[in-house]
Amino acid sequence: MENVADYKEIVDVIKESGGEAFKHCYQCGLCDTVCPWNRVRTFSMRKIIREATFGMTQVEGEDIWRCTSCGNCPRQCPRGVKIIESGVSLRRIATEYGVFPTSVKPIRTISASLTGEGNPLNEKREDRAKWAEGLSVGAFKEEMEILYFPGCYLSYDPRLKKVAVATANILKKAGVNFGILGNKENCCGESIRKTGDEELFRRLAKENIKTFIDNGVKRVLVSSPHCYHTFKNEYSEFMVNFEVLHIAQYLAELIDAGRLELNTEYAKKVTYHDPCYLGRHNDIYDQPRAALKAIPGLELSEMPEARENSLCCGGGGGRIWMETPKGERFSDIRLEQATGVGAEVLVTACPYCITHFEESRLMLAEDESNPADNGNKLEIKDITEIIQDALF
Ligand code: SF4
Ligand code: SF4
Repeated sequence: MENVADYKEIVDVIKESGGEAFKHCYQCGLCDTVCPWNRVRTFSMRKIIREATFGMTQVEGEDIWRCTSCGNCPRQCPRGVKIIESGVSLRRIATEYGVFPTSVKPIRTISASLTGEGNPLNEKREDRAKWAEGLSVGAFKEEMEILYFPGCYLSYDPRLKKVAVATANILKKAGVNFGILGNKENCCGESIRKTGDEELFRRLAKENIKTFIDNGVKRVLVSSPHCYHTFKNEYSEFMVNFEVLHIAQYLAELIDAGRLELNTEYAKKVTYHDPCYLGRHNDIYDQPRAALKAIPGLELSEMPEARENSLCCGGGGGRIWMETPKGERFSDIRLEQATGVGAEVLVTACPYCITHFEESRLMLAEDESNPADNGNKLEIKDITEIIQDALF
């Protein structure tokens, strides 16, 4: 990327997606101060985009792939600079030129899996509904109350399939008339878009939208905040209109309406982690807490960084598919914060957060030098798994 034409292209793309706003940056550096990367290493998104504006960014480098799109810096920037969008523009250039540093190379395999099978996990499309076998969960029909869209990780990942099962059990217990799309469901495309593959995102989105329209879907229930964000805020670019609910919202709605009776005591100390795409990006803070507070015996405490100040797990912006070396994982810090407030259970509502927290839990349990030595004691749960325990 050393010729002038390529640099000009970078600048043009940045201008298209926020570069005009970036001109207003007065280099205050607040974005770098609040960025979670600066808890574990030196990193400056401000510098990357500043250099790109003057055609000096190294697109081959690792740094343009670091931003987890956690939403912390844009929320606090006094000049309204579109920092995430500008970073994604640089990735679009790198993707177009096929320039990937070693840690980012898995993206190629992931793109192939998304294109061929509709999921990033190299799993077969026809196995997408296997998690529901034996649960009497049927195909969605137009007259049903709601479509349940579990997403890729809950459909295939062995740990996260338990969350899909818990969700189905809860919906049945509440008497919700719901169905699934099975192998007609595709990845929502949120994360691949953040890695810069706009074309693949648009293809996945269009296929999902066509399936929703063909099947008469009007209300969609999702388990992943990434599906929620994309369906709600990005699919609207395609002029479609359907209601989207995250399970954390729906649980509060079902409890409020008296459709779920939480009779079994859950006598544990619990702390709730706000996923970036539920909290900061979509302002959903109260409903998951209300659902947890409705459980008898549950003691909820807050970590120092909660709600809009929540610490990112490290999985957004496509980072879920990239290796993060030991000592640089935000999730390790989050587990220490959870044990620091005396929690026995760290609960959240996002498959990426659960994946990262489970990995950190295992690492910390194995690490005998870990002073907290709590990795093996802390449980990691999705909110549905706790509600299920309180129902049955
Ligand atoms: S917070 Fe905003 S104005 Fe300040 S350096 Fe970052 S991008 Fe520029
Ligand atoms: S969005 Fe989050 S991870 Fe990305 S640069 Fe801003 S603070 Fe850092």
